[in-house]
Amino acid sequence: MAKLIDGKKISQQIKDELKEKAAALNAQGRTGALAVIQVGADPASSVYVRNKKNACAYIGIESLAYELPEETTEEELLKLIAELNEKTEVKGILVQLPLPAHICEDKVIQAISPSKDVDGFHPQSVGAMTIGEPGFLSCTPAGIIQLLKRSGVEIAGKHCVIIGRSNIVGKPMALLMLRENATVTVTHSKTRNLPEICRQADILIVAMGKPRFIGAEYIKEGAVVVDVGIHRDENNKLCGDVKFEEAEPAASAITPVPGGVGPMTIAMLMSNCVQSIEEG
Ligand code: NAD
Repeated sequence: MAKLIDGKKISQQIKDELKEKAAALNAQGRTGALAVIQVGADPASSVYVRNKKNACAYIGIESLAYELPEETTEEELLKLIAELNEKTEVKGILVQLPLPAHICEDKVIQAISPSKDVDGFHPQSVGAMTIGEPGFLSCTPAGIIQLLKRSGVEIAGKHCVIIGRSNIVGKPMALLMLRENATVTVTHSKTRNLPEICRQADILIVAMGKPRFIGAEYIKEGAVVVDVGIHRDENNKLCGDVKFEEAEPAASAITPVPGGVGPMTIAMLMSNCVQSIEEG
């Protein structure tokens, strides 16, 4: 039976550590706010934004909410970001994605000062991560590294297969696993023989965005399985990219959905905010 990697518990530990750190910084007069910008009222985005504000409140970081109407122009959004870049009390700027189609996400991401880019999406943050320079790490992949380390999974020398090559999960995940001395294979929608490649993985990280796609034929006996996917099934229940009931008997450790990777993303966002306050 696989060990369950408990993202809820590990993210709570991290948030408690950050709360202590933020209080110590606060006592030295070092404070700062996270600006959270949402354009439009997409219900899923509203839930994410609310969770981020709640996490700030728990840790003791101020959050400034900017709820802008759907019709906000790209120019107006860029102007707001420019103003927030200049405000010294604002230590982090987060623009909730996706944005309405008339706004270019890349332009918006690149407008955020790299020193306040707590999502780690700015090309400068990505470049710094690539060459191992200091900077903000992408939250979901950084959260997965913490999940593995804090669950006692050894990474160095292991073969890690990643399914997915997106800019927010697959690619940064590959870079962080390399940094941890794993041997990394990145697979994607054009990969041939996917089950065969996945069966070579000591650590299989699945970020393909396909509900319950990965079954027993993809998993080597004793592998560690990390499921990044998050979906609602036909009964409106949350599920991942992995068929949990098929993967679990073969795996040595596995993340559930919900309660695996999901809670780690916000914990790492908070970690980046505290880092930003620390760096002044
Ligand atoms: P994406 O759609 O941008 O990328 C999916 C990737 O999977 C692509 O690179 C594609 O090439 C690959 N892929 C698709 N079909 C494939 C196939 N049949 N075989 C092999 N590869 C295939 O998605 P994303 O933004 O990287 O997110 C992936 C999943 O993770 C989604 O379900 C998303 O909701 C979830 N997610 C969760 C969190 C979290 O905090 N838990 C954060 C980000 C994303």
